Amino acid sequence: MPHDVREPGNARKIYVRSFGCQMNVYDAQRMTDTMAKEGYVETDKPDDADLIILNTCHIREKAAEKVYSELGRLRVAQEEAGRKPMVAVAGCVAQAEGAEIIKRARMVDLVVGPQSYHKLPELVALAQEKHGQHKKGIVETEFPVEDKFDFLAPPTKQAIAKRGPTAFVTVQEGCDKFCTFCVVPYTRGAEVSRPLGRLLDEVKRLADGGVREVTLIGQNVNAYHGLDDHGRSANLAELMARVAEVPGIARIRYTTSHPRDMDDELIAAHRDMPQLMPYLHLPVQSGSDRILDAMNRKHGREAYFELVAKVRAARPDIAFSSDFIVGFPGETDADFADTLDLVDKVGFAGAFSFKYSPRPGTPAATLGAQVPEAAMNERIYALQALLDKQKAAFDAACRGRRFDILLEKPGRLPGQLIGRSPYLQSVVVLAPREAIGTLASVVIRDVSTKSLSGDIVAGEFWPEGVPAGANLVRQDEQLEA
Ligand code: SAM
Ligand code: SF4
Repeated sequence: MPHDVREPGNARKIYVRSFGCQMNVYDAQRMTDTMAKEGYVETDKPDDADLIILNTCHIREKAAEKVYSELGRLRVAQEEAGRKPMVAVAGCVAQAEGAEIIKRARMVDLVVGPQSYHKLPELVALAQEKHGQHKKGIVETEFPVEDKFDFLAPPTKQAIAKRGPTAFVTVQEGCDKFCTFCVVPYTRGAEVSRPLGRLLDEVKRLADGGVREVTLIGQNVNAYHGLDDHGRSANLAELMARVAEVPGIARIRYTTSHPRDMDDELIAAHRDMPQLMPYLHLPVQSGSDRILDAMNRKHGREAYFELVAKVRAARPDIAFSSDFIVGFPGETDADFADTLDLVDKVGFAGAFSFKYSPRPGTPAATLGAQVPEAAMNERIYALQALLDKQKAAFDAACRGRRFDILLEKPGRLPGQLIGRSPYLQSVVVLAPREAIGTLASVVIRDVSTKSLSGDIVAGEFWPEGVPAGANLVRQDEQLEA
């Protein structure tokens, strides 16, 4: 008799470990939901699992190599424990390296690219037949004609509640921009937008499960152009306007945007839509026109300045974050000085910065004039020092300000909850656990490098007013989130 995991008491356990971007977090949840329908129960312990999925990232060499060190660790753990769960490698490394993964790590039963996650149940069943028989694993890296989103299972109400009051929703996938350093157009494929009606259904389901904040995600999210119910193409501003009407949804964010796709309607949404948070991640990568051109970013530094000014005019309290690459091939000291100058002029509340990593198959990987490691190190230290200084100044200026905070989860110390400010800062407050999922109006009292802390002065959980003394706590305790 085959082992039927759907029989009560027979549940197998699935462990998914995600690397990389928010798209992978979303994909991990969809894979877990899809396998839950097959009777698999989620576990957060790999030692406990019958199926382990490593959901990988290929954006930089270091990220890609992580999968092999993780596989090595898993092999040792399996040998010590004397059990052999099935192992699947998913995500962008799976797409880029395919069968090579099985050659390098024979313990892998299944390699599955991001466009085939809806086939997981059948692929896992097929791999299961070969598992433990010294047969080669299965590789599925096609870009199928059907849309995986039509087949991936939605989360149950319990799964939504367990994941908390914020959620990601993938609205667009893939990219047609072909920046010369980037693997995304090759691993995730061409830009595809999901239909608006399906997205609204997904947001309504999340809101029914208690979600208050959605982040609409995509590799190039502001290029969104999904079809509405009349077969008309809708842009991101239109999608957000509809999402804002969903009862329960109090906050909307979107990421990651390309400067070229910030259209006037989207900028106006920052002025007109109170649910849209005043924090915009707008990667610029470099401040040098020469390098921006070599990167094929399709805009120069002046265009970026103009865009920032336009968005600030629409929403004066907006803050920006960005991505930067240092050491792109051919980058000189003068080019890098332009990047520092751009950072200085714009002023960022947060940012990610990376050393250029050549990715196989991308045009920049074969360019001459690769920048020596020592110069790259110097530049990244200088850039990060400036960005850290700007972030610290932005955070310090929040002291005394009053923000709405969405309370998300318990803090480290008893009585604490952690929420997020409109600017995505972690804010520690004192509040009962039952207040998770509600908005609280908080005056920021203290600022540390990791988080802010403050006093609740009003909030959805306290319709009659916050009880006197509710915020009393030693300051040093409150800051330790
Ligand atoms: N779509 C986004 C955009 O237009 O900027 C970015 C997507 S990518 C997943 C996230 C960031 O990784 C990029 O903004 C870039 O800074 C960085 N990145 C991408 N390829 C890289 C490479 N080859 N080396 C270093 N950093 C890279
Ligand atoms: Fe990669 Fe973003 Fe450029 Fe697309 S727009 S190629 S995802 S960096």
